[in-house]
Amino acid sequence: LSKRLNLPYTNDEIGRLAQTFDIMIDKLDDSFKRQRQFTHDASHELRTPIAVIQSQAELSLSSSNTVSEYTKALSVILEEAKYMGKLISNMLFLARGDNKADNLQMENLNLSDLIEGIVSELKPIAENNNIKINIVKNEPSCIKGDQTRITQLLYNIIENAIKYTLPEGNIKLYIENHDKYIKISVQDNGIGISKEHLPHIFERFYRVDKARSIKNGGSGLGLSICQWIALIHGGKIEVFSEENKGSTFIIWLPSCGVTHK
Ligand code: ADP
Repeated sequence: LSKRLNLPYTNDEIGRLAQTFDIMIDKLDDSFKRQRQFTHDASHELRTPIAVIQSQAELSLSSSNTVSEYTKALSVILEEAKYMGKLISNMLFLARGDNKADNLQMENLNLSDLIEGIVSELKPIAENNNIKINIVKNEPSCIKGDQTRITQLLYNIIENAIKYTLPEGNIKLYIENHDKYIKISVQDNGIGISKEHLPHIFERFYRVDKARSIKNGGSGLGLSICQWIALIHGGKIEVFSEENKGSTFIIWLPSCGVTHK
């Protein structure tokens, strides 16, 4: 596609048509490249858990093992299968057509209730790791959104804050009304993200520390999905972070009554 004659555009209708055509071809080329990269990354990501499952199964079949050895192999297989399941459903979400704004089930959502629900679900996990999590500011707020998608977005960001915070850490949530938007801040004092990695964390399959992320069941697709959900709701996500100090993710979503694009 990129092999084209590099002729200057004539200053007439044909020239303008040729220019428009070139712009369209560039966009198409770009989208093919992204698609190829996604397929490449996806196959690569699936290869690792499959290799682990295969080697555990082969090892178990090739020698006589104790019950506890079999149990250990089976639990590794189960973990890897769960990881693959999550990875595939995330990939499908990004690849399918149902992630468009037209397919959202929009309704008025009470954000405080929604976040309180997510926090009470995640609190035991945080507390197991000696991490405190609290909603510090909780202004009454209403957003227009798809409950499943908005829950998925907030759950992911709050879960990340727990995953990337060390024991004894502290996570603070703020829900505030700002003009036509609701601002949700998720602040952690965890491992943070260095300047070098920060611009890339919303890219598909991008992980700062792959080993740490996989250990936590992460595939590097979470933030791409969050970003996408925010965008199709007419919102956005910002991040501020400092290595070894912590990160703050800010989610802006249009409040009720504001029509999203
Ligand atoms: P993962 O599934 O690996 O958690 P995400 O797309 O959710 O993938 O996040 C991408 C990467 O961004 C993570 O692997 C991690 O390195 C980094 N990250 C995300 N949230 C945080 C956070 N709160 N603190 C530090 N690093 C984070």
